[in-house]
Amino acid sequence: MPEHIELRSDTFTNPTREMRTAIAEALVGDDMVGEDPTVNELESRVAALLGKEAAVFTCSATQANQAAVWAQCQRGDELLIEQAGHIANWEAGGPAVISGVSVRRIAGRGGMLTLADVESVLRPMDDVHIPRQTLLCLENTTNMGGGRVWPVEQFREVARFARSNGKRVHLDGARLFNAAVASGVSVAEWAAEVDSVSICFSKGLGCPMGAILVSDQETIRHARRARKVLGGALRQAGMMAAAAIYALDHHVDRMADDHANARRLAEGLNQIDGVGVDQASMESNIVFATVDPGLGSAGELSCRLHERGVRLFDVGPDRLRMVTHLDVSADEIEQALEHFRQVADELRTT
Ligand SMILES: *Cc1c(COP(=O)(O)O)cnc(C)c1O
Repeated sequence: MPEHIELRSDTFTNPTREMRTAIAEALVGDDMVGEDPTVNELESRVAALLGKEAAVFTCSATQANQAAVWAQCQRGDELLIEQAGHIANWEAGGPAVISGVSVRRIAGRGGMLTLADVESVLRPMDDVHIPRQTLLCLENTTNMGGGRVWPVEQFREVARFARSNGKRVHLDGARLFNAAVASGVSVAEWAAEVDSVSICFSKGLGCPMGAILVSDQETIRHARRARKVLGGALRQAGMMAAAAIYALDHHVDRMADDHANARRLAEGLNQIDGVGVDQASMESNIVFATVDPGLGSAGELSCRLHERGVRLFDVGPDRLRMVTHLDVSADEIEQALEHFRQVADELRTT
């Protein structure tokens, strides 16, 4: 185990010994021609779990999202998304580069939208001047929105409204299992409201790589072509699918521990003078903290903590982001808080 306490992201998890055994023992074949039994097992299992027809295993959630955009839009279309959305901000302009799709960012709250937000940007589909608004992308949990879990009624209302207006709806569910564990609303219930869903295996599920896109047969057929173009059609990918199957069996329920650790972290941070966390909006494994200028910048705080072996990201002049996951224990949360207190004391007296 590494010496430091890793709070930068749940992507930093290392595969456990048991997961490595599952990887080593995987039955494999050539997935490019559909003959990897473990990939096939994973795809049909996740499709069934989400109540959809088909699925395609991808290298990353970025690849799954971009394949979803490719499969459901045409060149010149416009995709609608909340302004903090991953697809709009953290996928290197993929919709424009790969699919010729422009992105319309909608100002919501916590990465989530209301019906009125979506209603306010809808435009006629049959006017030659106007890009066709074909796809609405939602995120659950929201990443830069703060790990928020949508109220299920709000999610339903927004998705149903968009679909009744002829839009497709894609759910970027990189952390959908976190949302399901936090809310008690199953992944199938979230998936039922949308046309396609992506899920990341290399975040809280703890796999070294991999994600999946789930939808109807026709959409997945197009997405397989997109995956090929994106260089994501692999050969003995069953090694990685085996990790994902292991994670579905062993790493879902335990996410409740990550959420409890995040709550404890938030609570402890709030007791430090000059550090603030909006605990009311803390729902899963992501903690955003605001740093009072009296303590210096978030970058300075993060740098001092790094020297003490506590790793986190500063995501703005006064903002820190921390993520809990299976490689951070409750004990390490207490240790991290102790370092935080000491660093804050140092900064206050300088
Ligand atoms: C991390 C993340 C992705 C991308 O995942 P990668 O597997 O790193 O490509 C997509 N969407 C959301 C909401 C994420 O948090």
